Amino acid sequence: MNSYAARIMADLKKRNGHEKEFLQAATEVLASLSLYLEKRPELEKLGLLERFVEPERAIGFRVPWVDDQGNVQVNRGYRVQFSSAIGPYKGGLRLHPSVNLGIIKFLGFEQILKNALTTLPIGGGKGGCDFDPKGKSDNEVMRFCQSFMTELYRHIGADTDVPAGDIGTGAREIGFLYGQYKRITGLYEGVLTGKGLVYGGSLGRTEATGFGLCYFMAEMMNVAGKSFADRRVVVSGSGNVAIYAAKKAAELGGKVVAMSDSNGYIVDEDGVDLSVVKQLKEVERKRIKEYVLHRPAARYIEGCAGIWTVPCGIALPCATQNELDLDAARALVANGCFAVGEGANMPSTQDATDYFLEKGVLFGPGKAANAGGVAVSALEMSQNSQRLHWTFEEVDTRLKDIMKSIFEQSAMAAEECGKPGNYVVGANVAGFKKVSQAMIAQGVV
Ligand code: NDP
Repeated sequence: MNSYAARIMADLKKRNGHEKEFLQAATEVLASLSLYLEKRPELEKLGLLERFVEPERAIGFRVPWVDDQGNVQVNRGYRVQFSSAIGPYKGGLRLHPSVNLGIIKFLGFEQILKNALTTLPIGGGKGGCDFDPKGKSDNEVMRFCQSFMTELYRHIGADTDVPAGDIGTGAREIGFLYGQYKRITGLYEGVLTGKGLVYGGSLGRTEATGFGLCYFMAEMMNVAGKSFADRRVVVSGSGNVAIYAAKKAAELGGKVVAMSDSNGYIVDEDGVDLSVVKQLKEVERKRIKEYVLHRPAARYIEGCAGIWTVPCGIALPCATQNELDLDAARALVANGCFAVGEGANMPSTQDATDYFLEKGVLFGPGKAANAGGVAVSALEMSQNSQRLHWTFEEVDTRLKDIMKSIFEQSAMAAEECGKPGNYVVGANVAGFKKVSQAMIAQGVV
């Protein structure tokens, strides 16, 4: 790490010692930027990194709601508006019991660079709450969402901050959040993305992150003369990103042999039947273990870490942060895995990432590979502003072009830094260049 980056990291560790995911993300990014920073010593005088690692605003708030038994529940909500250098804050809302300020900061920080890579005018933000939608009735989820939005609405807007979905925030939650925003403000504006098609959503948004991941992977593998065709693919998770990554991987000729949820994983040597997964997860909100009731030849194994021991050529971690550690990386490589694409945000631990790069595995880092979701969210914003509705094909074509461009920007920046094929360095540098240029142009703000 260069001396400027090391000084900023030491300071961050001192002041934010308890925010371990944020520190992990910041360490990876600042280490990647080292070579670039060496060539741009003027950035230190401008205090660029000091400003880059500090959110413009971090909002925390109480979310009281009443459960079906009449008991008052209180959760903790957050919105971190990290950077508006290149556009309104943009990033999802995570609903999961593990949510805390450090996790939201890590996600918001990654989002700045991801959003810059999309080439669209969106800044970086993220929010969420330690509320767990799992096991709650629709009415409880609605009351929670209404309470959450009753505080959040004053901080967001079509031209200031546009939240979207993330873990635990799907179509149902976005609908309830949007309804409450409209009710309080009286505005029918594109303030949330991932909306339903009948009230301002974009075709292709549901599929965008998973499809975009596969488009990125196809570009990356193509350079090495490889493709999805006839490859075994392992996809972790069975949520929004995982389902559509699995769908596109299969359409591109791959055979998805394993998927998971936070309890365990299924292996189906005949190829996972996605219609069963979709019915279980999207419609019935059940556990993945029920898959074997519909496909008796498949196996269910309790515990999710073991999924990485299933032999495959291509691994797509699409569940959550730090789900793939060094042992998992070793098992994947030993079993012939040659390409890894991060559908989730920071699913690989730092030592797992280092191991993949050392072993010459084609590695698509999350902020580049999963940027398709936010890219189509920005396209939803464009359609809302124009009061237009594009076709699925139109959106999908734009998504493909955006993912190709993200790959090319990452590849070029990696070359420029003397690290060809290292898309971790490439994505970080390419995103940072754009954000830092905008920050410099706008003065010390
Ligand atoms: P969903 O809530 O739809 O699905 C999440 C999946 O991951 C579920 O299968 C869930 O299992 C599993 N999971 C969640 N937490 C854990 C955990 N602690 N351990 C193991 N498995 C877990 O979320 P998304 O598909 O939207 O998001 C998945 C990842 O992709 C996240 O990292 C998110 O930040 C990232 N991402 C999402 C985008 C989007 O457009 N949705 C865009 C870019 C990135 P279970 O049901 O058991 O909880």
